[in-house]
Amino acid sequence: MKTEVNTGRVVTRFGAELLVENTEDNPDIPHVRCTAKRKFDTIVCGDYITWHHNEHGNASVDDLLPRTNALTRPGYRGRPRTIAANIDQLVIVNSWLPETSWDLVDRYLIAANQLNAEAIIVMNKSDLAEAHATEADWQAMKNYEEIGYPVLQLNAHTGEGIEQLKQMMDDKTSIFSGRSGVGKSSIANRILPTSDIAVGIISDSGEGKHTTTTADLYRLENKGYLIDSPGVRDYALGDISTQELADGYIEFAQYQNNCRFHNCTHDHEPRCAVRTAVENNEISKERYLRYLDALHTLKENSNS
Ligand code: GDP
Ligand code: ZN
Repeated sequence: MKTEVNTGRVVTRFGAELLVENTEDNPDIPHVRCTAKRKFDTIVCGDYITWHHNEHGNASVDDLLPRTNALTRPGYRGRPRTIAANIDQLVIVNSWLPETSWDLVDRYLIAANQLNAEAIIVMNKSDLAEAHATEADWQAMKNYEEIGYPVLQLNAHTGEGIEQLKQMMDDKTSIFSGRSGVGKSSIANRILPTSDIAVGIISDSGEGKHTTTTADLYRLENKGYLIDSPGVRDYALGDISTQELADGYIEFAQYQNNCRFHNCTHDHEPRCAVRTAVENNEISKERYLRYLDALHTLKENSNS
């Protein structure tokens, strides 16, 4: 029997019990069920842990390894509750019907920046683009690409763009974000190799359907993972400062050091290099105006 310490990644949790993917090289068992002591109540889907087999062939958690980031939601009495950890990439899913809100896309991009995660903008339902996309929409997409975000046209019905998305999710841990009805489930169904690993393993062991309070980790075809749950999908940006807001507009970065005031909010301040860049068409005016809207809303909320 193995007594040495192994590494693993948390697939999902059921109270004090964790379903863990064995991340050792060539593991003899791909998944283990580990019990976790009270002090490990904070462990969530996506966490890396160490574990060992104990007597009776059971396994238990030894340690929680450091996280690169964590997704939180307001929980009991508004206290942040962690729902998933170690996310490399946000896949921001949009469609033409329901129509795309570029404000919402910006908000997800700010969230990605805060998590220090990458972002991909997916435009699903490409079959509806011709009838619904406006010139302003095409301009917005072009602008996102120019400032460094991949924009992918997709059709979850025909499979157009799916291979490309799979490649972009390879080797990374991603989450899908976006409003209801844009096609997240349809895309997930095309991308996941098997139907439901987590649920499958648990029901095999005779415990029936699981109810999870966090999220589930799904292994993709290669080395990538998808972390998914309703709570992850409608993940929204929490309270942020005006500085964090501006940081989320990554194209401002190369100009803002030249603003006259180091704490410039790029609104009304004199000699603002960001505003000058907008006037010179170096920064998209539409996105700058969305930034100003977000800034004013943030200020109103903090005053009330
Ligand atoms: P979710 O709420 O984001 O998970 O969206 P769903 O995957 O449930 O999809 C919502 C609706 O959009 C369903 O009726 C899908 O069949 C439809 N849908 C998904 N992808 C496409 C697409 O590429 N083109 C069109 N026309 N409809 C799609
Ligand atoms: Zn400025």
